[in-house]
Amino acid sequence: MRYISTRGNAPVLDFEGVTLAGLAADGGLYVPETWPSFSRDEIAAMQGLSYVETAVRVMAPFVAGSLTEDELRDLCTTAYSRFAHAAVTPLVQLDQRHWLLELFHGPTLAFKDVALQLVGLLFERFLAGREGQLTVIGATSGDTGSAAIDALAGRVGVDIFMLHPEGRVSDVQRRQMTTVIAPNIHNIAIRGDFDTAQALVKAMFRDPAFSTRYALSAVNSINWARLMAQVVYYFYAAVRLGGPERPVAFSVPTGNFGDVFAGYVAARMGLPIERLIVATNVNDILHRALSTGDYSSGTVTPTATPSMDIQVSSNFERLLFELGDRSGAALAAQMAGFESSRAMMLTNRQREGAAGLFTSASIDADGMGQALRWAHERSGQVIDPHTAIGLAAARADVGNTPMVTLATAHPAKFRDAVERSTGVRPGLPARMGDLFSREERYDTIDATFDAVTDYIAQRATPRG
Ligand SMILES: *Cc1c(COP(=O)(O)O)cnc(C)c1O
Repeated sequence: MRYISTRGNAPVLDFEGVTLAGLAADGGLYVPETWPSFSRDEIAAMQGLSYVETAVRVMAPFVAGSLTEDELRDLCTTAYSRFAHAAVTPLVQLDQRHWLLELFHGPTLAFKDVALQLVGLLFERFLAGREGQLTVIGATSGDTGSAAIDALAGRVGVDIFMLHPEGRVSDVQRRQMTTVIAPNIHNIAIRGDFDTAQALVKAMFRDPAFSTRYALSAVNSINWARLMAQVVYYFYAAVRLGGPERPVAFSVPTGNFGDVFAGYVAARMGLPIERLIVATNVNDILHRALSTGDYSSGTVTPTATPSMDIQVSSNFERLLFELGDRSGAALAAQMAGFESSRAMMLTNRQREGAAGLFTSASIDADGMGQALRWAHERSGQVIDPHTAIGLAAARADVGNTPMVTLATAHPAKFRDAVERSTGVRPGLPARMGDLFSREERYDTIDATFDAVTDYIAQRATPRG
């Protein structure tokens, strides 16, 4: 499989190349040159397959040329053996119509593990044949950081610098990052919000001298391999609920538009998905873009769902590319306009295209609290606040298609907010061990390009 940039002006890469590259050199994001697709019979044949076998079927076309099917199976077997549930991503029924797809049974309790456990192994495998050290840099609103650090700690050939917004991640999230003490792990608290941290990371990639000198790479959800791994659970869940005969709808708590874009990919590959609900909190740039066409970023309001406190959703660019007839030149111009004014209008074509599959909702703190209580009182499920945003949006949807809300984090990761709404304080699973008595290690620095690049330059291994 070959991969092209959404801005049409970067080298075409194979799967190995896009996995290690992250962002494309022209500032765009990599997407497959063509979308593989499955027939109804091929999807029906996924019924009853294990998670790992489903993963191999769904991902094989994307890794073709870089990994054999057996190699892919070995990596998936290892990656998903670290999950605490035998079904990896089990479905839980809430009432007649609503299901939760529990994506939080991995080592760091959020759905990011589903992709990053695999990506960590892919990095190790692809780096084994290369010279020199790779420097992974990332910005996290909490969950990517802990999942990436767990996946890469101690791995040979790669250093990781993870920026999180100071004071804007939960204490469980912070400790899951800062208590991993390994020589290749560097945690940085940025004096700023998540969007500022993300902008700093993008600026480092855009600096050719810096990014070449330190062989920069990304594990944020701009990394194609992550999205690819997330496509799997849409197939796995839909097939269990009667797909491909019966279409299914998904409600996705959304921040950077990675997880829900994976749902779009599943639909492009032939999975009958009736609807994808983009569920946002009050930081609702995506809801405004999808409902009015106005994609303009405001300031971030901190909420009880920090992983969705985002005003610029990187992966939305991938959707705009698809809906704009895959014209890299047109999208490069549209994105340049956005980057200078922080605002843009979707074209009519992009709006109409999106309306065919997506709906959206913005859920405030009351709506979130009600959904937390509803799940608890109706079906005894203690859910996390992000999941509650998704569930609130799902419940507002009318119809009778089976509705799956992606449960993106374990409630214990956000236990203060859960306790405030339900009165229940969820316990940390035993596999978290002594998280609160471990030593933390991180540095706090100013949110400026110079401060961050100086910090990294003092600790990373330059090329050559
Ligand atoms: C990352 C995250 C999200 C948002 O996912 P995107 O792929 O960025 O849209 C939602 N909920 C939780 C718990 C997360 O960690």
